[in-house]
Amino acid sequence: PDQENLLEVNNIEVIYNHVILVLKGVSLSVPKGGITALLGGNGAGKTTTLKAISNLLASERGEVTKGSILYHGKPISDANPAALVKTGVIQVMEGRHCFEHLTVEENLLTGAYTRSDGSAAIKRDLEMVYDYFPRLRERRKSQAGYTSGGEQQMVAMGRALMSRPETILLDEPSMGLAPQLVEQIFEIVKAVNEGEGVTFLLAEQNTNVALRYAHYGYILENGRVVMDGPAASLRENPDVKEFYLGMS
Ligand code: ATP
Repeated sequence: PDQENLLEVNNIEVIYNHVILVLKGVSLSVPKGGITALLGGNGAGKTTTLKAISNLLASERGEVTKGSILYHGKPISDANPAALVKTGVIQVMEGRHCFEHLTVEENLLTGAYTRSDGSAAIKRDLEMVYDYFPRLRERRKSQAGYTSGGEQQMVAMGRALMSRPETILLDEPSMGLAPQLVEQIFEIVKAVNEGEGVTFLLAEQNTNVALRYAHYGYILENGRVVMDGPAASLRENPDVKEFYLGMS
């Protein structure tokens, strides 16, 4: 990845319900073309950080009360999620959120709704998604609600790709998946990153797998960044080993 920071989060505070201070000054930089991991335990503030970036806090009575969020150097705090998708940023929410009554393919096509470049390009991208997720090609006519958890995670990611994003915010892709599937999902993240140049910011409790695939990591504890660095050096850090990688 080159040096340009696509996304900059500067010292943000987030408050829920006017009183609960959850992010206490979080700063992070996401370089173009990289995979950046946001790590930390349950309740550390990972999801809140992603939702602050994609402006999804209002529906949860949360707001950014301090700091700034810049994309390509411009503030994005006022962009609604649809406008943000046009800017090139899309969030894949925790828990997948497929349209259960639509087929896999119909779900993927919903991801192209903001595009105006015609059906030929959309068809091409559907093939691109199927090339990254061969399993979805096999299951394309299946009702999404009847597919497995791993397949639904793939649908959610594939649908995001259909918007031709520059940046994907990926929340907890490993959640509830067997280790082998987790590995498969991260292999696809890596392939999409390398093949399409898509930038990733991913929130993940599974530090081990995230630090094997990410280039850079931030560790959040209780609403603050307590450590950050290149993934390779975090993997070797004694504190990270002890507290996050389950070995001392
Ligand atoms: P998880 O992996 O459980 O999602 P996380 O690191 O993503 O953890 P957040 O979901 O961002 O953490 O939550 C951070 C803190 O904010 C937690 O203490 C949580 O209870 C609190 N919180 C989250 N959403 C709300 C809300 N809508 N109202 C009040 N507090 C909230």
